Amino acid sequence: MFDVCVVGGGTMGLFLAAEQSARGKSVILLEAGRSPGENKDQLLGSRPVRGSHRGSEQAWTTGLGGTSQLWGGQLWPWQDWEFAGLPQKGISAWPLDFGDVSPYYERVLRALGLPATHAQIHGRFGFASKLPTVPVGDYSLKYSSWIDRSRRNFGKNAAIRAQLRNVTVRQGAVVNRINETGSGTAHIELRDDSGALSTVSAKKVVLAAGTLGNARILRNSEVSQDLPALGRGFLDHVSKRIARVDVLDWNKFRAFSAPKSVRGVLASPRIVPGVTLLNAHQLLPCYAHWEFASPSSGAVASLRALLRAGQTGEPRPPLSTTLANMWGESGELIEAVARSVRYRERPVPTSSKPYLRLDVQQPTRHDVQLTWSGNNAEPDFPNLSLAWRTGREEDATAHAITHRLVDFLNSLDIGAAVHELPPGDTFEDIFHMMGGTRMSGTPAEGVVDPDCKVFGTASVFVAGASVFPSGGMANPTFTALALTARIGDKIAD
Ligand SMILES: Cc1cc2nc3c(=O)[nH]c(=O)nc-3n(C[C@H](O)[C@H](O)[C@H](O)COP(=O)(O)OP(=O)(O)OC[C@H]3O[C@@H](n4cnc5c(N)ncnc54)[C@H](O)[C@@H]3O)c2cc1C
Repeated sequence: MFDVCVVGGGTMGLFLAAEQSARGKSVILLEAGRSPGENKDQLLGSRPVRGSHRGSEQAWTTGLGGTSQLWGGQLWPWQDWEFAGLPQKGISAWPLDFGDVSPYYERVLRALGLPATHAQIHGRFGFASKLPTVPVGDYSLKYSSWIDRSRRNFGKNAAIRAQLRNVTVRQGAVVNRINETGSGTAHIELRDDSGALSTVSAKKVVLAAGTLGNARILRNSEVSQDLPALGRGFLDHVSKRIARVDVLDWNKFRAFSAPKSVRGVLASPRIVPGVTLLNAHQLLPCYAHWEFASPSSGAVASLRALLRAGQTGEPRPPLSTTLANMWGESGELIEAVARSVRYRERPVPTSSKPYLRLDVQQPTRHDVQLTWSGNNAEPDFPNLSLAWRTGREEDATAHAITHRLVDFLNSLDIGAAVHELPPGDTFEDIFHMMGGTRMSGTPAEGVVDPDCKVFGTASVFVAGASVFPSGGMANPTFTALALTARIGDKIAD
């Protein structure tokens, strides 16, 4: 019998297994894939229905590291009002507050081997450097920070790997269901590569199988049969381009808009409307950020593909292509790189086309559900069905904020003219899958309690953004990791 069984060797799973092992617990980690993408189809069912949600297909993968093999590694701690929710706009309050979660942000940084510069960029412990700001008023310029590429994939992160040495890791182990005996021991049923079923027992089990996986495993398990909220309240953040930018003075525009390097940590600016503005116009929480579109066959695209291959394990583009692209654009590339070294910015070549994007928080929609239809041939592998949608609330926010934001930016001296795009573009999900096993104070409305323990159980916990009752303004993973570190304390108790 293990002290802890972690189901899923992805972002949350590796983090928690390392954390529990460091406390001297005996830990087993069960991961469905041996390599990226293995067993993914099986986990979605043979005929999944995904509707218009891109992420349910593209925003996750299997294998050690899980989706951290793909993600951008952008960290963004939430503020107190994001936990308080905005009930008048359909955004559920959490049964936890900011003070319950915020101490764990620093713990996450330490466990991932990241410098305190991240916290300084986020505005905690004072400001790290002279990052640009905007005049105080309806908007503020806030910065997210990026985990460097060597630490972004948790399967390769040295600080995590050092703690995994004593963890029993089983790959190719697809977990079907969890059950619990009266004594509170958890029994985890899994299927191995040969199709054989076996059971692992543990004092505590933490589901860290991603938003789709957590709800699916609980749907198969007896422990959660009486929880009507299971599968409900699936969410994402949504994004679309709202303006194009004509650059008049590249150096001035880059100084305002390009991601900056602060003591080696990259920081990206986001233009955030304040709560007073949101309330005055009944807007959903949202923020705008710059997007620099570069030609898909150009030098910047080749260099990005080269760097990305180190994180994802995808094949590297041929060196000859990269060199040829760089040669063709050598003048502007040298200029962009020279400036980036001097001013500590991400290089932004003048051939790139800047746009302004708007990202919006979705209201909690309880009828947007993860459900599974029967699969007679393989009863343990039902077909995912997801009727996700965006609504008029997101469109109304875009409509109300765009011209205000464009006017505001044009009133600043940023070296560019910003032009509103016609509102034709539709919102797309941005690969932040949340909800489905939501946290609540009562089993009538939620699947897990404020400690992330499944209602009615003594030993079954859920880690990851699937427990979010509402999605905050942006990037969920830092907050999901902080909650996972908090679960670590609860189960160690
Ligand atoms: C391209 C991209 C960019 C992103 N960028 C950002 C960003 O910059 N900032 C941010 O905050 N978020 C970002 N995200 C979202 C972020 O990656 C996810 O929120 C996070 O990785 C989810 O972690 P997780 O542990 O919950 O799931 P995962 O990392 O997906 O791990 C789940 C694991 O469980 C395994 N599993 C599933 N079912 C079973 C089963 N039945 N038995 C055994 N194992 C199972 C899977 O194989 C997988 O390894 C991005 C996502 C994508 C795709």
